[in-house]
Amino acid sequence: MSAIKDSFEHIAKANREWLLRHATGKVGADLAEDIVQEALFKAARAYEREQYHEDGKIEAWLMRILQNTIKDHYRKSGSSAPPLSLDLFTDEQDDLYTYLPDPSPTPEERVIEKESVHSILLALQMLPKKQKAIFTCRFIEGRSLEQTADRLQMPVGSVKSGGNAATTKIRNILGVKISPNLLRRNNSMENKNIEHEFCKDRLFLYAKGLLSHEKLAEVEGHLATCPTCRRMANAMKKLVQKLTFGPEDEHSRLLIHFPEEKVIYGGLAVPFPNAEEINVRLKEIDGNLPAMDFMIYDEGEGEIRLLADNCGSEFPYTKVTKDGEKYLDIHHVDRIYPCQWFYFVWEVDETVTTERAKEAYNLYRCKVTQGAVRTEQKDMYYQAIPEKAENIRMKRGNGIIECDGVRFAYADNFISEGDTLRLEYSYLLNE
Ligand SMILES: [Zn+2]
Repeated sequence: MSAIKDSFEHIAKANREWLLRHATGKVGADLAEDIVQEALFKAARAYEREQYHEDGKIEAWLMRILQNTIKDHYRKSGSSAPPLSLDLFTDEQDDLYTYLPDPSPTPEERVIEKESVHSILLALQMLPKKQKAIFTCRFIEGRSLEQTADRLQMPVGSVKSGGNAATTKIRNILGVKISPNLLRRNNSMENKNIEHEFCKDRLFLYAKGLLSHEKLAEVEGHLATCPTCRRMANAMKKLVQKLTFGPEDEHSRLLIHFPEEKVIYGGLAVPFPNAEEINVRLKEIDGNLPAMDFMIYDEGEGEIRLLADNCGSEFPYTKVTKDGEKYLDIHHVDRIYPCQWFYFVWEVDETVTTERAKEAYNLYRCKVTQGAVRTEQKDMYYQAIPEKAENIRMKRGNGIIECDGVRFAYADNFISEGDTLRLEYSYLLNE
C-alpha cells in the first residue's frame, strides 16, 4: 500500500502545477488551492482503490476529477455562489475566463480581473440584441444551453453559435484595448471603429469562405460601408483562387501583406502524420488542453490578433512568455487535421518591409527575406503595392499579379532548408 501511496505522491507533485493553473482560470486564485487539494485527495483515494488504469492518460484522468470537483463545488454552494466574478460559467467549454485577455493567477491580478468583468458588462451593451440576450442568460445568469434555448425560444444550436459569436466579439472588443469612452453605447462613430476592427480581422477567412453564417452576415454588412475592408476582401478573394498550395504532407506558408493597412493575413500549414492519435487524446479531455500543452511560437514584431483552423474556427489562446520567447498557448482544440492550417492575422508596422530611399523623396524600397520553416516547404509572400505607385521595378521575386484592382508584388516558390524566399522591388509614389 505504501508503494502505491509513494507513486501517487509522485503523480500529485508532477501534476499539481498545471491543475492549479487550470483551476485558477476557472475559479480564481482564492479557491483554486482548495479545489486542487480536494481533487488530488479524491484522486489519491481512487488510485488506492485501483480505479485508475494504466491504459488511460493520467492527465486526462486528473482533469476529469478536477472538473467534477469544480462542478461539485458550485452545486454545493448553490445560490451562495459568488456573483458575477466566479459564477460566469456552467460547463468547462463555455468558460468566460477563456475569453479574457489573461487568466489571473495572483491577488494583484484579481483586481484586474474584476475590472475585466466590468468591461465585459460594458462591452455587452454593444452586441446585437439576440447575442446580448444569449450571453446574459448563459454566462451572467448561469443557465445551461438547454435552459437558455427554452427561455429564449431558440434552437440549442443557435444558442451555442450565438453564445460563441458574443464571446468572440467581447474578447475582440476587450482585446483591442479601447478606452472606456469607446464603450459608451450611443456613439455610432466608435461602434463603427470596433466593427471595422472585428471585420478587418476576419477578411481572410471571409475570402477563403470559412466564416460561419453569423460572422459572414456581419462582415458582409460591414463591407457594404467600408471601402478599405472591401478593397482588401475582394483582392484576397481573387488571390486565394489563384494560389497553388504545397502537398498535404509538407509545410506551407502564406503571407498576404497590406503594408498601408498594417496587416498581414496568412497561414501556416503543418503536417500532423499522427493526427488520429492526437484526436483520440483530445476527445478524452474534451479538447480542453492543460496550460502550456499546445503552444505556437509567436516570432517577430507586431501582434497576432486571431488564430483559426482549417474550418475557420477560432482558437482561444493566451499570450505567454517562456524562457524569454513569446508563445500563443492554445486552450481548446476540437480536432487536429493531418494537414493542419493555422490561419492568423498579424498586425505589423509599415516599416517592417518598406523604407523611403535616401536618394529620392518619392522612391520606396521593399525588401522581404524569410527562411524555410522546415526542410522543404511551399512559401508564398504577396505584398500589396500602394494604389498610386508608379515605375515598379522588380529586383527579386516572381513578379506582379493584379487582383480586383490591387497589385501584389510576390515571391512564390518551393524552398528547402537553408534557402530563403526573397522579394525585392521599388516604386515611385507622389503623394
Ligand atoms: Zn473596415
